[in-house]
Amino acid sequence: VKICWFDDYRLGLVDGRIVRDVTAALDGLSVTPYPSRLHGDALICNLPGVIERVHKIASGAPTSTLADVRFLSPVLQPTKIIGVPVNYLKHIEEAEAQREVFAQRYHGSVLEQGLFLKASSSLIGFGERVQLRFPERRTDHEMELGVVIGKRGSKIPKEQAFDHVAGYSIALDMVVRGPEDRSFRKSIDTYAVLGPWLVTADEIKDPQHLDFSLSVNGAVRQASNTRNMIIDIAQQISWASEFYTLLPGDIIMTGTCEGVSRVVPGDTMQCEIQGVGEASILVT
Ligand code: MN
Repeated sequence: VKICWFDDYRLGLVDGRIVRDVTAALDGLSVTPYPSRLHGDALICNLPGVIERVHKIASGAPTSTLADVRFLSPVLQPTKIIGVPVNYLKHIEEAEAQREVFAQRYHGSVLEQGLFLKASSSLIGFGERVQLRFPERRTDHEMELGVVIGKRGSKIPKEQAFDHVAGYSIALDMVVRGPEDRSFRKSIDTYAVLGPWLVTADEIKDPQHLDFSLSVNGAVRQASNTRNMIIDIAQQISWASEFYTLLPGDIIMTGTCEGVSRVVPGDTMQCEIQGVGEASILVT
């Protein structure tokens, strides 16, 4: 199932080129009470029940075409957005070759460097815009598979990691290059893009073998396959949960491949992940 938030916080079911407004599926649902921070994102916490209701009302729901809706992030309130640095070999090579542009402060493998966090306030959907905060500095796209956690867990064994996955989305880990800490440079408002929808885990048989690509104004800049990750998704989930409890709605941006490059106002980034979908977003 492809579930999305769109327009003025409408809940949508994506059905081919159509979005069905299934907001009514939320009626009467006991959403997590305040303080929800301790539980996770309300929709993802209640996802199985919501999807059950969605199926009941979908055929009679009002419809729009994909082109006519404005996609918000499919997770509205993650407690954290986890980033995986240097997780594709060829991206490491390009970063090493341009040390004056990329951060000079980080050394060693992904296992030596650890994970990083992006502020939840940086999160937007594909119907919004990436707004360059410091146009004089270099802002790069990092195209990634986004994994959305569906079930709370701490110290999750690798073998059980996928029991904790709600689904997958396209993720953009936007970054302003420079010497500061990653969490600072990658947490700028609008610098975390997720969407255009959440594809539930049952639809993706093998998330570790998905082609993905990103083009800027029609020219391919990044193209790879998730099999090229250095540490795989199961290990990311297990490792992250050794350090912090993963909650429903938490997002893992699983690392970018080679081809990261600068974007400037007016650019359009087109993203595609096999089995997940495709979407474009404008840079301003
Ligand atoms: Mn990244």
